[in-house]
Amino acid sequence: MESLWRDDEASRFEGELGLRVYTSRLLGREKSLVLHGGGNTSVKLVERNRFGEDEAILYVKGSGWDLETIEPAGFSPVRLAHVQRLAALERLSDPDMVNELVTHMTRAAAPPPSIETILHGCVPFKFVDHTHADAVLAVTNTPGGERHVREIYGDAVIVIPYLMPGFDLAQAVAREFERQATAKTIGLVLLKHGIFAFGETARESYERMIDLVSRAEQFLARHGARDLAAPPAPAESEATPLEIAALRRRICAAAGFLATLRVRSTAQALAFARHPEAERLAQQGPATPDHVIRTKRIPMLGSDVEAYVAAYGEYFGRHAPLAREPKTMLDPAPRVVLDPRFGLASVGRTARDARIVEEIYEHTIDVILRADALERYEALPAQDIFDVEYWDLEQAKLKKGGKPPVFAGEVSLVTGAASGIGRATVAALLARGAAVVGLDQAESIEALHDRPDYLGIRCDLTDEAAVRAAIARTAFAFGGLDMLVLNAGIFGASQSIAELSSSEWRRAMDVNLDANLALMRACHPYLKLAPRGGRVVVIGSKNVPAPGPGAAAYSASKAALVQLARVAALEWGSDGIRINMLHPNQVFDTGIWTESVLAERARRYGLTVEQYKTNNVLRTEVTSRDVAELAAEMCGPLFAKTTGAQVPVDGGNERVI
Ligand code: ZN
Repeated sequence: MESLWRDDEASRFEGELGLRVYTSRLLGREKSLVLHGGGNTSVKLVERNRFGEDEAILYVKGSGWDLETIEPAGFSPVRLAHVQRLAALERLSDPDMVNELVTHMTRAAAPPPSIETILHGCVPFKFVDHTHADAVLAVTNTPGGERHVREIYGDAVIVIPYLMPGFDLAQAVAREFERQATAKTIGLVLLKHGIFAFGETARESYERMIDLVSRAEQFLARHGARDLAAPPAPAESEATPLEIAALRRRICAAAGFLATLRVRSTAQALAFARHPEAERLAQQGPATPDHVIRTKRIPMLGSDVEAYVAAYGEYFGRHAPLAREPKTMLDPAPRVVLDPRFGLASVGRTARDARIVEEIYEHTIDVILRADALERYEALPAQDIFDVEYWDLEQAKLKKGGKPPVFAGEVSLVTGAASGIGRATVAALLARGAAVVGLDQAESIEALHDRPDYLGIRCDLTDEAAVRAAIARTAFAFGGLDMLVLNAGIFGASQSIAELSSSEWRRAMDVNLDANLALMRACHPYLKLAPRGGRVVVIGSKNVPAPGPGAAAYSASKAALVQLARVAALEWGSDGIRINMLHPNQVFDTGIWTESVLAERARRYGLTVEQYKTNNVLRTEVTSRDVAELAAEMCGPLFAKTTGAQVPVDGGNERVI
């Protein structure tokens, strides 16, 4: 592992807190050191307070920040003297510790400081870097972990046996520092947890981390436990997309909340799920408390959710005996699924959470296989896995969290999503917490958003095989489909019936009607599995209730689509699927309405552009966003008891009213 320090980059950061930001980001760039939200760093600075006195302040990573993208505002400034006095207490409960830290910061708006703050305060060095490096976990998560660590590092590091993060661990570190530290001490290894490095400058502390982790990597290499044989060539998932959707539905039922599920059928994931010793390797649990918090308990092997839930009930009873204070049962759903048929699936309340679980578990697989090649993989004790997970739940309760977004954990698909109403609908659904798949013929669909809860697929909707493939990708990426917005359509040139060619008529029917029939048919089994009931929104047109001359093909195809949707509302109601339609009119902020087209149309009616745009009963302009917001609301609780309805969104039209 190489140091990523560059003098020219470093010179752009100001002061010691600036360099603390810089080297924290360097750690965050290296995924084998730090994964999403994991790891933490600190610096001890002296600042002048309100009374003109110098005061030592511990700047420690705040919760909710990633090292890779941290800013100065992501560090919580805690009064160091108070932290050190806390460390000397006989005991301190976790909630009390959190309260003491939060109430002794010098900036009210700072994030709550890391749970490892007291530990950072106890280390007598200015800069402290902490990671859960894969190589260190592979070495320490073995029966001979302590022996290996002493062999690798000699007296360069202090070694601490596994203890749950929090007050007791911080005290053990303070104690062991006094007992074990020498002039050569540059780091600290917490068995089955991770590694710390320290220094007097940001660069020294960071480069010691790189050096210490490199030594663990070299040790693994010397024992043939670093470069493991590549798994056999990747095979396809043997599970169908519909089976994945059914699995997600059962997991949501067990969890008691909506979640997305993401499948990875890579060579690594399939080989691990098919490993002859998968039971022994995977069923011990995570490699560090940091991973327990994100991936929760042990993975589910196979896809029998009900058996997993039953086993969890026993596990809970074993680890939360009645003698302790009454405990609320944790939700019993798995977060990681290993199935020889599809490889690895990860579960998260949002698509982002699922992706984090996946990334952590892919690193866990590496750690497990390397530890096993070195000696034998050994996870944290089961009681500790339980305690960390339970403690995390308590922490979550302490945080003042708002209500989750209305579509959190749900999956939607929007057609014609690259521009206009479709694009605005993607934004409206993302803003409400849904994962969104956008389909469009335009290449720009793929890069419309760069975020884990969006997937853009280039797709010709009149190609049934391509549509089925897109739905399968949706199921493997997010676990199913809850909401479908049928927006794609073509308008065609203005033509009277006498001049209308059969091919233009056919084309309008193909895109506006037949393609939607095929899509609805293909989506029906998924919508039927939607945990909260499937929802379909059809973007119709004012032309359905009030057609105009010159648009026969468009008006007839949209009217037929609406009739199709009304029949679907009747047929699919018993499957819990509701279908509603909305009729926009004169939405001008779309690609077809350029400035010159608008000016030309307005002139033809003897109106200004402004008058033309607001030529409706309410004298108001209707935008793509207005239509998109209504489409999203039609999927939400406001319309929970409505199906088969048609709602205009046109500023009021005399012919429709
Ligand atoms: Zn840690």
